[in-house]
Amino acid sequence: MKLLLGTKNRGKVRELLAILNDNDLPDVELLTVDDRPFSDVPETGGSFLENARLKARTIAEETGLPVLAEDSGLEVEALGGAPGVRSARFAGEGATDEQNVQKLLARLEGVPEERRGARFVCVAVVRFPGPDGRELVAEGELRGRIATEPRGTHGFGYDPVFIPEGYERTLAELGPEVKNRISHRRRALEAIKKALQELTLKA
Ligand code: IMP
Repeated sequence: MKLLLGTKNRGKVRELLAILNDNDLPDVELLTVDDRPFSDVPETGGSFLENARLKARTIAEETGLPVLAEDSGLEVEALGGAPGVRSARFAGEGATDEQNVQKLLARLEGVPEERRGARFVCVAVVRFPGPDGRELVAEGELRGRIATEPRGTHGFGYDPVFIPEGYERTLAELGPEVKNRISHRRRALEAIKKALQELTLKA
């Protein structure tokens, strides 16, 4: 079975491949946007689930392939859950990761460590093509807190300011090996992998 990764975010593609290539899905051939290009899907949904579904369904329809899409973001307690579904465009449409991070740090200026709690959320959806195509859904989270300044060079997005629970360094300092073991994306994809294994065993 072919499975197209429905994202153009290079950071996400890298992590999805690292997590899914773990030898657990021998019957699944993973394709990326480089193998099968697809159009941008505007993220008009009001929740991670709505956006992940929208991306998976639209790209499956356009390409005729089974698609794995995910929507993810950062929820900060002191900001009432913001930036949430707006994480990619927190500092405005087309904002860079650095601009988003700077805006986040500015909004949290003076907020003490114990009130800098946050979590990353990832909702992953696999959609099979066709009007009644089957859909698999899973969610994962990673709890932590927001640092007072960016540190580290790995990863993408808010990684330089996110310190996972149980660690003192940011995800961008910890690097891909640690991140891909504990991340919200890893947790969502573990559940998706199980569901896919069951499907391919039955097929
Ligand atoms: P979207 O899912 O395309 O709407 O974008 C999610 C946005 O959330 C990314 O552009 C990042 O800003 C942020 N984000 C999601 N997952 C991560 C992560 O693993 N590390 C850092 N930032 C993330």
